[in-house]
Amino acid sequence: MSGQHVVGILGGFCWESTSLYYSRINTMVKQALGGLHSAELLLYSLDFAAIEEAQHKGDWDGAAAIMGRAAKSLADAGAKAIVIATNTMHKRADDVAAASGVPVLHIADATAAAIVAAGLKRPLLLATAFTMEETFYKGRLIDGFGLDPVVPDAEDRALIHRVIYDELCQGIVQAASKQAYLDVIARYRDAVDCVILGCTEITMLIGAEDTDLPVFDTTEWHARAATDFLLKGEV
Ligand code: GLU
Repeated sequence: MSGQHVVGILGGFCWESTSLYYSRINTMVKQALGGLHSAELLLYSLDFAAIEEAQHKGDWDGAAAIMGRAAKSLADAGAKAIVIATNTMHKRADDVAAASGVPVLHIADATAAAIVAAGLKRPLLLATAFTMEETFYKGRLIDGFGLDPVVPDAEDRALIHRVIYDELCQGIVQAASKQAYLDVIARYRDAVDCVILGCTEITMLIGAEDTDLPVFDTTEWHARAATDFLLKGEV
């Protein structure tokens, strides 16, 4: 045994971003431990078509049941914590924790803690419509961390959501969509002090180098939280 605390990644939302978790966690473990070390983890990668269908039908109980079954099998196989590799499906993070019996390393907590540590407060939240419009995510930023998130207007939200599902989740990265996202950021430039890439695929499109605002990539901060747990065994 490696002495690592095994993390179970619940992924496939979509697989493009799950593969980023896999490579980033392994890179960070190698940086920390050196040599031939790599991450001891489990991955349950779901079929995103079933999840997406449930989301857009509003069948969150159905989606939670799929996630719960997969999370339990990760815990049964030895996972000591679960990483749900998507922002949106944290809508039902409590169900995943209950079904698996082990803690969920929450993506919003990992990201919000980094924003607070940087002394920032007013992030522009770019995410799926579910994450931008409902309270499960913003509420956690506000109540748990004292942040004051800003959400784009309806037209911008529709654009951001469409690019996630029609392009990024299908591995399509287009210059025009990148520019459209940067135009959204520019419109809110004076109303915010940082940007949350609040969908795990947005890092495929834009990054810190594209704007003068500090950028918080949820994929990165969540992968760091997973690596911390792997190495220390603490939530
Ligand atoms: N990966 C995305 C997110 O972080 C969207 C896909 C999904 O609906 O889970 O929210």
